[in-house]
Amino acid sequence: MRPMLALKKIILPEWVTDEVRIGQEFTSEADRMGVAIKLSCRQVAEGTGGPFGAVVCDLDTGRVIGIGVNQVTNSCWSGAHAEFIAWTMAQETMNSYDLGCGNSVGLYSSAQPCVSCWGGVFWTGITRLVYAATKRDVEQYAGFDEGPLPNDWKESLVKRGVSVQGELLREDAVVALKEYGRLGGECYNANNLEAE
Ligand SMILES: [Zn+2]
Repeated sequence: MRPMLALKKIILPEWVTDEVRIGQEFTSEADRMGVAIKLSCRQVAEGTGGPFGAVVCDLDTGRVIGIGVNQVTNSCWSGAHAEFIAWTMAQETMNSYDLGCGNSVGLYSSAQPCVSCWGGVFWTGITRLVYAATKRDVEQYAGFDEGPLPNDWKESLVKRGVSVQGELLREDAVVALKEYGRLGGECYNANNLEAE
């Protein structure tokens, strides 16, 4: 028999289901963001990865269809960002690579997407992006490099039918970033810009 090749699955930390479950309904955008931020805070408190959380919701029902917390260090996968995991779970939930076909789907992230998550959003079918902390917050308080986002990153999403709202509950999200920085949490990106 030929050997099978497969990628390992991501298994989120057990505490995640204390905070949110697939199918749970959140009617307001603030509630959805509140969950994403709670996930980021628990990440720091539990020491289970970078200080980022995200959920993907069906915007018609308010139901959660995807959940993510950063798992880069645990999984040895540089792409294991909260947003990436959340929409991949949503695609499994909906059994489709295109979340948008006929649906309104929102990604709620505790922080502005980095360059790879921004780029990834384009092919997911997500129709709305809401984030809390800004790129500058992430870089300043937690020490991460968010990558070379173009200045028109928002406009290019809008042009493709993705509405964008930033800084929803930003002050709450910054708390986890500051705590991660204070604890000296690992900033795991390879190929960071050299300090000048
Ligand atoms: Zn990212």
